[in-house]
Amino acid sequence: MDNVKQVIHDADKVLMHTYNRYPIVLDHGKDMYLYDINGKEYLDFTSGIGVFALGYNDQDYNMALKEQVDLLLHTSNLFYSEPTVMAAKKLAKASAMDRVFFTNSGTEAVEGAIKLARKYHYKKTGNSGGEIISMDHAFHGRSMGALSVTGTKKYREAFEPLIGGVKFAQFNDLDSVKALINNTCAVIMEPVQGEGGINPSSSEFIKGVRELCDKEGLLLIFDEIQCGMGRTGSMFAYQSYQVKPDIITCAKALGCGVPVGAFAAVESVAAAFEPGDHGTTYGGNPLVTTAVSKVFDIIDSKNILDNVKVMGKYLSEQLNSLAKDYDIIKEHRGMGLMQGLEFSIPVKDIIAKALDRGLILISAGSNVIRFLPPLILEKKHIDKMIQILKESM
Ligand SMILES: *Cc1c(COP(=O)(O)O)cnc(C)c1O
Repeated sequence: MDNVKQVIHDADKVLMHTYNRYPIVLDHGKDMYLYDINGKEYLDFTSGIGVFALGYNDQDYNMALKEQVDLLLHTSNLFYSEPTVMAAKKLAKASAMDRVFFTNSGTEAVEGAIKLARKYHYKKTGNSGGEIISMDHAFHGRSMGALSVTGTKKYREAFEPLIGGVKFAQFNDLDSVKALINNTCAVIMEPVQGEGGINPSSSEFIKGVRELCDKEGLLLIFDEIQCGMGRTGSMFAYQSYQVKPDIITCAKALGCGVPVGAFAAVESVAAAFEPGDHGTTYGGNPLVTTAVSKVFDIIDSKNILDNVKVMGKYLSEQLNSLAKDYDIIKEHRGMGLMQGLEFSIPVKDIIAKALDRGLILISAGSNVIRFLPPLILEKKHIDKMIQILKESM
């Protein structure tokens, strides 16, 4: 057996079968490209599902991590470390939040945000059981808490009962949110739904939800795990809507490759947590928070947000003209470098053909191709992607 067959054979025996993987064994990456163990090159328009905002193997980023590896990886949260505090300051400043809790994943960030909302409600009202309103087609993760607020029934069904008191409204329909308010403590939503099919909030909806939360005394949680960290052209998507949440969740591109997430909140909400209310062994360790700080520095020093705006516009024009030329494309949606094409047919075969031609794409649901390229991309990468996509359709 060759190496590829061997790895796939072994993986099928030893890994739990929770993913259908492509028969490709990846080995290394550089900037916009990934290479498999036979040296075949792939243009990556997924960033490893929204993670590699800076592309592969940024040298500044790698050096910072290498230096930290030789200093200290982990401290436990019983002590202070400088990288943790530095990263928290940068995240708080960039998000206009006051206090940060670092986690090891996006799912855990959502768990923490839910716990904080419940604790806040408990302190305020003296009652537990504050209800949470989430949205249809929302994706917030796979643990029991995060799954409870994930708006896709097929992900939830086999694992019920999940946490109670969760209701689902229609995304972009304010009346459907109003209709669910009861003993509610929070509304959770993605400003731009990712996994659910690249659905940006309308400006009226997101502003309307904020006003409703203010009026009813509810907390507003924005899950920016996929749409945050510059992806839509501002550091966080809510900033382009000029709406501020009470709690945010963040992960994926927060660490650009190391497993790190965070939830952050404004002071009055964060104050609901007291020592003992929440914890994590690894969360915010010096290694991952060194990465977080470096990511913020590089986004700034390389003017990444400007690039997202310029390239986002170009990508949008190109996808729009594709949508006009091909009848099988129903709609084009998105913001910045988070865009999608909805087809009238399943996109699985198109993605497989593109992969043969050296382009990595990802779906969002069965009929949407999602475009989440590294934020460092240039025009020539978009042109190449469009060319391969056309051949694959
Ligand atoms: C990916 C994602 C999550 C889950 O993050 P993990 O790191 O996979 O646990 C939650 N919310 C959104 C919006 C996501 O895109």
